[in-house]
Amino acid sequence: MKLNIGCISGDGIGPEIVAEARKILDKVALVYGHEITYTDILMGGASIDVHGVPLTEEAIQTAKASDAVLMGSIGGNTTTSPWYQLPPNLRPEAGLLALRKALNLFANLRPAILYDELADACPLKKEISSAGFDMIIMRELTGGLYFGERYTTEENGLRKAVDTLTYNENEIRRIAIKGFDIAMKRRKKVTSVDKANVLDSSRLWRKVVEEVAADYPEVTLEHMLVDNCAMQLVKDPAQFDVILTENMFGDILSDEASMVTGSIGMLASASLNDSKFGLYEPSHGSAPDIAGKGIANPIATILSAAMMLRFSFDLDREADAIENAVKNILKKGYRTVDIMSEGCTQVGCKEMGDLLADEIR
Ligand code: NAD
Repeated sequence: MKLNIGCISGDGIGPEIVAEARKILDKVALVYGHEITYTDILMGGASIDVHGVPLTEEAIQTAKASDAVLMGSIGGNTTTSPWYQLPPNLRPEAGLLALRKALNLFANLRPAILYDELADACPLKKEISSAGFDMIIMRELTGGLYFGERYTTEENGLRKAVDTLTYNENEIRRIAIKGFDIAMKRRKKVTSVDKANVLDSSRLWRKVVEEVAADYPEVTLEHMLVDNCAMQLVKDPAQFDVILTENMFGDILSDEASMVTGSIGMLASASLNDSKFGLYEPSHGSAPDIAGKGIANPIATILSAAMMLRFSFDLDREADAIENAVKNILKKGYRTVDIMSEGCTQVGCKEMGDLLADEIR
């Protein structure tokens, strides 16, 4: 298969971790007989330094012409970097927001997995963490409260602020379809999270999700109120497979789910539109404090590349190979500094990439 991948190395540790992800993709291509073309795209601080803006129109067009985009991370030290002296619309993060918008990336996926070998990093009690967990949070990314009409006013000397939460059925349906499609590739369970006891938008959400569920008889659907879900994530995270939810609930729940894994350097993410196209990036930032030291953990980016193979190219076997390589290397006791524990062997970013590439045969 021919894979045409746009590649945003970005800032900070971005170039280091993307180099390792490319090493892994190249090894997969070699072993499974694929042909990969990478096109580099400048975004964030790296683009500001060259073009004076965090994303050019040309960069958007290159991303659009790709089958999928792999990204490291963007941004610098927000107190000391000159990028943060610029107006907000010219700072590194504005590039990412503009790209998400231009590509209509409405579905955000964040897996939260507790690896047996990293269970000690999990802040939950042993009797809970010992069951392990492996879930995906599917968050609607372009609608809801963050995109509704908002204003602040003053009435009779009283200051008042208004935010509106709007969803139409099409916006709900397209993310629900994505959620069920992904559940079909996993353990076939969707937990749709809402606040249907209070919000009209949630009641419509629930109805439309049920309509979509009718087309997926193999998938078990359950509804859960968002406050209960926040509790269940720390009480019994093993119960979840795919959590499907709207923008603000997903924002909060996905951070909670990340935290209970305890290992930021391991968390992948994907943002998808209604074609097979996706933007794949680690959940963490550009870690300027360790940039250039060769110690960053490349695994979140490598697992994002695995998601790309699975969701944009339907290469499940190849994605499995990467995910199994990560499990094997953890089992063998290799760790980067962020996940290091007693008795393990500490390795750098490049060494971790080499070890993982060797596992793919
Ligand atoms: P961060 O995720 O970059 O770093 C938080 C802490 O985790 C740091 O101590 C860092 O060293 C560590 N860390 C992160 N990734 C690691 C890895 N792969 N291996 C080892 N350690 C790792 O968050 P921050 O410091 O709040 O943000 C730094 C910059 O990143 C800011 O400019 C921020 O805006 C940007 N950022 C970008 C994205 C993105 O590109 N999507 C996301 C979040 C933050």
